[in-house]
Amino acid sequence: MNSLALSRVDVLDQPAPSIAGEVARIAREQLAPLAAGIDDGSVYPADVLRKFGEVGAWGSHVPHEGPADLRCAIQAMAAIGEVCGATAFMAWCQNTLVWYAANSTNIKLAKRFGDAFSTGRVLGGTGLSNPMKSFFGIEKLKLKGRKVEGGYVVRGALPWVSNLGPDHYFGTIFEREDTEETVMFLADCADPAITLTPCKPFMAMDGTGTYGVQFRDVFVPDELILADPAGPFVKKIRAGFILLQAGMALGVIKDCIKIMDEVDGPLGHINRYLPQQSVHFGDLAAELEAETMALARDPYNEEETYWRKVIALRLRAGEASVAAAHAAMLHCGARGYLKSHRAQRRLREAYFVAIVTPATKQLRKMLADF
Ligand SMILES: Cc1cc2nc3c(=O)[nH]c(=O)nc-3n(C[C@H](O)[C@H](O)[C@H](O)COP(=O)(O)OP(=O)(O)OC[C@H]3O[C@@H](n4cnc5c(N)ncnc54)[C@H](O)[C@@H]3O)c2cc1C
Repeated sequence: MNSLALSRVDVLDQPAPSIAGEVARIAREQLAPLAAGIDDGSVYPADVLRKFGEVGAWGSHVPHEGPADLRCAIQAMAAIGEVCGATAFMAWCQNTLVWYAANSTNIKLAKRFGDAFSTGRVLGGTGLSNPMKSFFGIEKLKLKGRKVEGGYVVRGALPWVSNLGPDHYFGTIFEREDTEETVMFLADCADPAITLTPCKPFMAMDGTGTYGVQFRDVFVPDELILADPAGPFVKKIRAGFILLQAGMALGVIKDCIKIMDEVDGPLGHINRYLPQQSVHFGDLAAELEAETMALARDPYNEEETYWRKVIALRLRAGEASVAAAHAAMLHCGARGYLKSHRAQRRLREAYFVAIVTPATKQLRKMLADF
């Protein structure tokens, strides 16, 4: 039984719909006014992320005496994504961090961080892009670790890790120098041997607390080890890691549908000549959502056919996000081309859904390798 399940706070026991509803309300009232600032990189919304945590947004997917259910977490992320794609990505970062701690068999780690992460008291993310690419033969692991008394010493650098700050944590993986086994651990950004370097400006996602992270012989004590070896753990958490990303996609697609509907009054007479209409994306979103919800009930399913469905869904979600945002741009015309209109923000956010690991090209490779 997972130790974290025993220590969940009462607020996380609310019925699922009320969590997503509360998250949607906070997103409308408190996140919407910040969305432009998050997009241009002048705001990192730590307070709102904590508020989402207070109403249970980061805790609903914690396994309860065995099985886990990701549906509420995904619905809540979609509600955030309808307002701000960058914050939906930070929501995924936080939810993924919670997912790692909740699945770790390191009791000390789960006790120390379980509630702190799942209530949003402590924020953070995940540095698994490089390991996820390395496990599928795309690149080599960038972090190396050496065994010492009471833990490991880790060195190397990751080019991008999001939802970080000076008091944040993230889960990542190094390769042991001696055995070439992999080990998954929590990195503590407050460690003086860890340096966070701001990235060059991105075309979107600048307010996501994304940094290049350097490890200069960082001592990682046993208390911060998520899984040693990492292999079986990654197999356990990988479907959840990917399925949770559907929340970002659904949020972006739903708002693109809204954008198309909003311009239907003034422009419907000419927009009807466009090949893709909001009703098409409504059907597509409903289909993706139904498939996501079905898979999200069973994230520990070990069958190959299940894993293949998860990858195929993730691929469709990225492609549908870009297609919906592209259609929203064409429906809006010059209005959507204004910097002040959210259609162009949606387009930039949608591309992120398609390029964040596992990126479209990696997903296509994974399907090709089956
Ligand atoms: C805004 C943003 C936030 C991100 N947040 C996270 C996160 O929280 N956690 C995480 O693990 N990953 C994060 N990533 C990485 C992301 O998930 C993908 O891995 C990345 O977008 C590239 O994936 P790809 O498969 O297209 O690889 P490719 O772009 O095809 O290749 C990636 C490799 O190319 C090299 N490379 C290419 N461009 C650069 C560059 N400008 N600087 C340095 N190296 C470069 C690096 O070796 C890198 O590993 C983030 C990326 C972005 C743009």
